[in-house]
This record gives sequence, structure tokens and C-alpha cells, in this order.
Amino acid sequence: MVFGWIDEQAEARRRAGLVRTLRPRPADSPLLDLASNDYLGLARHPEVTAAAAEAARTWGGGSTGSRLVTGTTALHTELERTLAAFCGFEAALVFSSGYAANLAAVTALGPHGSLIVSDAGNHASLIDGCRLARGDRQVVGHADPEAVRKALAAHAGPAIVVSDTVFSVDGDRAPLAALAAACREHGAGLVVDDAHGLGVLGDGGRGAPYAAGLAGAEDVVVTATLSKSLGSQGGVVLGPARVIEHLVNAARTFIFDTGLAPAAAGAALAALRLLERDPERAARARAVAAELHARLTAAGLEAVRPDAAVVSVRAPSPEQAVRWAADCRTAGLAVGCFRPPSVPDGISRLRLTARADLSGAEIERAVRVIGETRP
Ligand code: PMP
Repeated sequence: MVFGWIDEQAEARRRAGLVRTLRPRPADSPLLDLASNDYLGLARHPEVTAAAAEAARTWGGGSTGSRLVTGTTALHTELERTLAAFCGFEAALVFSSGYAANLAAVTALGPHGSLIVSDAGNHASLIDGCRLARGDRQVVGHADPEAVRKALAAHAGPAIVVSDTVFSVDGDRAPLAALAAACREHGAGLVVDDAHGLGVLGDGGRGAPYAAGLAGAEDVVVTATLSKSLGSQGGVVLGPARVIEHLVNAARTFIFDTGLAPAAAGAALAALRLLERDPERAARARAVAAELHARLTAAGLEAVRPDAAVVSVRAPSPEQAVRWAADCRTAGLAVGCFRPPSVPDGISRLRLTARADLSGAEIERAVRVIGETRP
């Protein structure tokens, strides 16, 4: 039968209790949300939604073409200028998603003959960037600058080191200063994905590279998403102007993709301005994460100490993780559930996100529900 192998895979998934299903989220969900990536609680901020609506009215529902043809509006240019200035880089380029931004950065900076050193815990979009790039890929142990150094020493020619700044599964941080030092010893470029750092880490949320003193460095390129702390949709690459110009000319997910929707650009710009006006939001997200962790630990749960706004809680098995998340939902709490094959280490966990706008009572309720429903 055509696609017969699909049914076999589906049956195996059913047997293992690992079927993924889509559940539409109601606009006015009664659930307490610790599952979204809206770290600063800006996705529904009136200034953000008004800016999205205004941008759509002014520029249209879509950007109408690729960035190089009709898809660049004054809003795109303004957003790029503002993002670059905020994060401390010379230039920025926005994409229709963070996924596309990562594919662009890794493929355009990892050409044939080059070496791409990639952390084993990197996000799927960086992994796919490595798979699509023409350079040779070498995966090294998680957060291991010594392994990076060894890989670079064994290669002659251009090289990049690719890493998340905050890893999306456990929320732990990459050793950015040590990675940059290893790169500098060997003349390699450092490409880091700050999807979970922008808006949360660094002075006023300027990101993990800023916090590590790497902002504006000529050998550092940063990617990020506009869909987490900026409450919008889209991605960005930040770096030296010559790197950004190279991406405009060489990155296929920039050249052949329709430009970021104006509403998304408008929303991201409004969120960024809110963050500039109220830099305490970033610190508040970090404080909520620390409080969540402390209360979970006090309740006897195995939670990973958060480096940013992601708090990961270990579950005994994939099946129990799925059931635990479902029981939380029944009790009024939305949490993420990460389990194989999404996690390379095979460890299943609940994934909680600390939102800057969570109240003390909400944090307490979340911890109580997680404790009461534990397997
Ligand atoms: N990088 C990381 C670390 C992420 O967690 C995500 C989103 N899940 C992405 C990139 C992709 O960003 P986007 O959702 O904007 O495509």
C-alpha cells in the first residue's frame, strides 16, 4: 500500500503512548499558562496588538514578496535598526521565523571546505542548518569548550562554532566566554542562537551575548526569534555589517522566502520599545524562574536550576511525563512536555516557562498542581 510504512510508524507511536496531537487554544483560555514562550507577557499587550493591527492596515496582511523584491517595508528597516542598536550589533536582518534565521546563518557561514562545530544539545533548527550547510559538521559534547578547542585545532581552513546560548530543553546556559576564547585561539567565528536569552538575559534583556561582553564583536553572529520574549513571530540575525550583507546575497532562506509579515514586524518593534521603556521586565522573568525553581525543589521535585526563564522538571518516563502534563491540564495548568524523540538525551521532563507577569499566587498554584499530580 502507498505510504504503508506511515501506518506502521503510527502504530508504533500509539503503542509507545507517544502520539502528538494538535489542540486548538481558546482565545480566552482559563488555564494558567506555563507552557508558552511569552516570557515577558507581551504577546497580548495592547501596545503590541495595536501595532500589529496598524502595520497590517498600513502595509497589508502579508509582505507581498521576498525581501529583495517587494517584501522590505520601512517597518522592516526600522525593526532591524532598533534590534541591532538594542543588542549592541552593527547590523541586523529579520526573517519570517527564527528557524529560517538559523538555517540562513549556518548555511551561509559554513560553506564547502569549512568546519562547523555544533553542540550536541543544539536546537533542531541549528541541527538542520548544519545538515543543509556544505561544510563538514562535527558534533561535540554538550557545553564542552575543550572539545570545541580540539575540533578546531584538528582543522585547517574556515570554521564556525554553533551553539544555543540558553538550551531550550533544560534552560541551561552555554559557556559563551569560553567558546569565544576557543574560537579566537583558532580564528573561528562564533554563531549563537539567543532565542531564549533575548529579552531575558543581559542588561535590560539585551541578551546572553551582551551579558558575556560579546555584543558587537567582529567574530560573533547572533540569531534569535521574535516569537518568544518579543511576543510576535519571526527571526533575526545580528552581526557585523559585512556578515549581514553576505546573508542578503547568499542565504537561501532569506532570498527565496517571503519577507516577515508587516503585522509581525510591527508587533516585535512595539514589544522592543516596551522593553526599552521598562527594562525591569527581563529581571522579573528571571526572578519568577528562580522562585519557581526554589518552590519546586522545596516540594521535593527534581527541577534544574534555571539560567534564564526555562524551568525543567524531570519525569520518570516518557509515558508518565505525558500523563503528568495531561493531569496538570485537567487541574487548570498548562505546562510543556518534552520527551523522546524531541530530546536527544532520552530524559523526559515537564518544561515550565517563567513569565514576567506571573503573580506570587499563580506561582504558588502552579507548584501545588505540579506537586499534587506528580507520578
Ligand atoms: N531556536 C531555539 C533555541 C528555539 O527554541 C526555537 C523555537 N522553538 C527556534 C530557534 C525557532 O524559532 P521560531 O519559532 O521563531 O522559528
